[in-house]
Amino acid sequence: MHELSLATRLVDRAVSAAASHGADHVDELTVEIGEATHINPDQLRFCIEVALDGTVATDATVTIDTLPVCARCECGWDGRPERHDLALSYAPDVRCPECQSTAALESGRECRLKSIEIPEKTQRDTSETREPAENNDNNDNP
Ligand SMILES: [Zn+2]
Repeated sequence: MHELSLATRLVDRAVSAAASHGADHVDELTVEIGEATHINPDQLRFCIEVALDGTVATDATVTIDTLPVCARCECGWDGRPERHDLALSYAPDVRCPECQSTAALESGRECRLKSIEIPEKTQRDTSETREPAENNDNNDNP
């Protein structure tokens, strides 16, 4: 199942981000998914909650942010494509409403861990007892 493998990957990232902050608990994790990913947010949330079981984030609140689709055409048009274009396939064929040529998706295909919330106490403890995290692959960029 697509959602389950995604969920596992997102949870892995959250757990390693928590570890790099010296956190032994995660309050909340926020995931961004684009509308054109065809991911069912409820299903993804469920899979994440299953995948979190037994990790430091086992009782974290899971928040799913859905990002709207935005497309851009060579003729200069940009905006939100017709919704039914997106429902047709995994690689949506987005048509420009102005010139009918294929428009490129600017956004809407995201699927990433946006952020995690860890208890503030842990963050303070971290500065005393741990070395600074040596990598910065925690959040923002895929
Ligand atoms: Zn156009």
